[in-house]
Amino acid sequence: MSGPSTGSGFDGLREAHAHVYDFGDALACVDLGGCRSKAELLDTIAGAQPDHTGWIRGMRAMPESWDAPEWPTHAELHDAARGNPCYARSLDIHSLSASTEALARAGIDGDRPDPANGVIVRDESKDATGLLLELACNFVLDAVPAPTFEQRKQTVRASIERFASLGYAEVHDMLSLDWLGPACAELDKEGNLACSVVLHPLFEDCRAELERYPHYACERVRFGGAKVFTDGALNSRTAFMLEPFAHPLEGIERGIALWSEDKLRVAIRECEDMKLPLVAHAIGDAAVRRLLNAIDSTAPKTPGTRIEHAQFVDEHDIPRFARLGVIVSPQPCHLLTDIEPILRLLPHRAHRAFPLRDLWDAYADAGLDPVEHIWFGSDAPVVPPNPEDNIQAAVHRTRAGEPGCPVIAPDQALTEDEARSLMRA
Ligand SMILES: [Zn+2]
Repeated sequence: MSGPSTGSGFDGLREAHAHVYDFGDALACVDLGGCRSKAELLDTIAGAQPDHTGWIRGMRAMPESWDAPEWPTHAELHDAARGNPCYARSLDIHSLSASTEALARAGIDGDRPDPANGVIVRDESKDATGLLLELACNFVLDAVPAPTFEQRKQTVRASIERFASLGYAEVHDMLSLDWLGPACAELDKEGNLACSVVLHPLFEDCRAELERYPHYACERVRFGGAKVFTDGALNSRTAFMLEPFAHPLEGIERGIALWSEDKLRVAIRECEDMKLPLVAHAIGDAAVRRLLNAIDSTAPKTPGTRIEHAQFVDEHDIPRFARLGVIVSPQPCHLLTDIEPILRLLPHRAHRAFPLRDLWDAYADAGLDPVEHIWFGSDAPVVPPNPEDNIQAAVHRTRAGEPGCPVIAPDQALTEDEARSLMRA
């Protein structure tokens, strides 16, 4: 697989796992990550213009790291935003502070009750302060106007341009909605698609998407495979693990398995029928094993079956990737942000995190080219799609420039040449 030149000077990289629209949408928001106080946050909002939604949407606010960890009130945000609807959302996306206009558009007044699993924070006189927690955030997020097709297209254009500027020639979108393919195809026709895009709709949507596909298909907008999610994630302690988390959630000590082995087998057979590879999210070692079992017992002939993330893989399962000819698509860059969670939640499995050396050697031992079977990605916008972060993590297994930062499973390191080869399209 080779992508067209982007003229960026170091082009030709493959981003094997990203969310194209969400990444572009995050680019349109105001970055509050650098603000060190409420005053700085309000200054930043005051300097921002409403985006295509007509709102000023601030992201990555970190009040808990300020000297005075105090969110702005709705009135303060209202003034800073000059009356435009506005919110400032926290880095972890679990809380946001909304302006007076935003609260009004969301229908949040004195009488509106808290939603299940959410809180509208109120002052002594029971009026909303503007701060919303957990699912109460959705009241405001849902009040932002849905983008038109043209706005979505321009968001995708900006997203893909950013990928191209980082050296990518090919981006794999990992949850492609029905409008994405047509939007990318139009951009391509206009000469505004800076990378080729590979689509992965949800498994359940693939039949319908296959019918639409011939109407927009072009060389630079391809159909990759059918996406399924088989478990949760590390930080939320929902990755499906062979052994319990060190500090588990009650009742789900080993995380959550979203698909049974039987259901996976049915899906793989259905994919065979559609001549599409299954592309499955599996973060925990038990999720990876279950998936390998299902692939093993169905032996799909369609090439390109992929396991996304594979953040933890048991020793015994390593040779099965090569034996089954499965492609693995990890995001080593997540190791840089996950060092502490790994050591806190899975200290007993830290040596099995991102086992890149084992995977590389297993493919090579089986006579397969590791470069054709291990594809790096970032899962942007979860983390920025900076190619050097994947190289840093794969080679050094720790953050750069932080003496004393723990090193995760150093024996799983790749050489720099090996790591770079896994980024090339
Ligand atoms: Zn993803």
